[in-house]
Amino acid sequence: MKKVVILTTGGTIAMVKNEQGVVPYDKGNALISEIPSLKNLGVKIEVREFSNIPSPHMTPQKMWELSRTIDEILKDNDVIGVVVTHGTDTLEETSYLLDLTLKSEKPVVCTAAMRNIGELGTDGPRNVYSSVLTVLSPQANQMGVMVCLNDEIHAAREVTKTYTSNVATFDSPGYGPLGIVDEDNVIFFRKSLTREKILVDKIEEKVALIKTFTGDDGKLLKYAAEIGYKGIILEGFGRGNVPPLVAEAVEEIVKEKKIPVIITSRCFKGRVYPVYGYAGGGADLRKKGAIMSEHPIGQKAKIKLMVVLGKTSNLEEIRQYFEPNISRRIILHEG
Ligand code: ASP
Repeated sequence: MKKVVILTTGGTIAMVKNEQGVVPYDKGNALISEIPSLKNLGVKIEVREFSNIPSPHMTPQKMWELSRTIDEILKDNDVIGVVVTHGTDTLEETSYLLDLTLKSEKPVVCTAAMRNIGELGTDGPRNVYSSVLTVLSPQANQMGVMVCLNDEIHAAREVTKTYTSNVATFDSPGYGPLGIVDEDNVIFFRKSLTREKILVDKIEEKVALIKTFTGDDGKLLKYAAEIGYKGIILEGFGRGNVPPLVAEAVEEIVKEKKIPVIITSRCFKGRVYPVYGYAGGGADLRKKGAIMSEHPIGQKAKIKLMVVLGKTSNLEEIRQYFEPNISRRIILHEG
């Protein structure tokens, strides 16, 4: 019999409230196999525990291990696809790492819950059910890794957590969902055309994500380069701009230490682009050696740099992964 594997990692979906607050429940992941509607889908549902941790405890190493584990599971011809349960806090990072690195194109859907097992209106069981339906949809192949919560299906590359508490927390700003789950129907509206695969044998864990601020003198950035980070994501303002002293720090780090500094933006829609030539503007930063991440969200760029550094540490090669369009000229098709 064909099967869907539910690989559990922990998160609120496997938590209960006690005197300390909401905490992982030792049988939490196991309860996922008790969801009644999973029994009538005509496929075997196999629940396997990968971990039972809150998602702020997720590490690059564990994400990478998860990716390797899923590829192993997907080699089994009887496995149609995998649902991963995870905490919502860092789900957008783990799912993106899976999207970039999984060799298999079989459907993988990540899900979670905002309300714990014992909470009124807990959203976990329905989210798991909708995710299994998504895996079973004939259109799910070639969609890349997806995130399914609250009846919406999002592309891992695009999705981000937007609300601290609401069940409608996941959104893909500037893109919208790939589709929806309505009753028992999975309806796809579109496909992500900006998806990439970067197949690697290893990843680089030491990548820092630093957010600039008004009055920043660049010392925190220089410190990150001194304490052994192999790559830095610098979240700037607007189009990808930073204060002047931060731009000087960037130049020093790139030119003297050959550490890639990737510019993202605290705006989560639109494209980072080297428009401004003033000290610290994007064009100035690029002249000083910085790389622009066209996709603006810092935590996505962090995951991507971890993967790209598993392939190359050459700054110009790294630039090609983050700036696919910036230096591309417009080619008019004739005829
Ligand atoms: N703090 C929890 C976690 O990410 C939140 C959740 O799962 O919704 O593990």
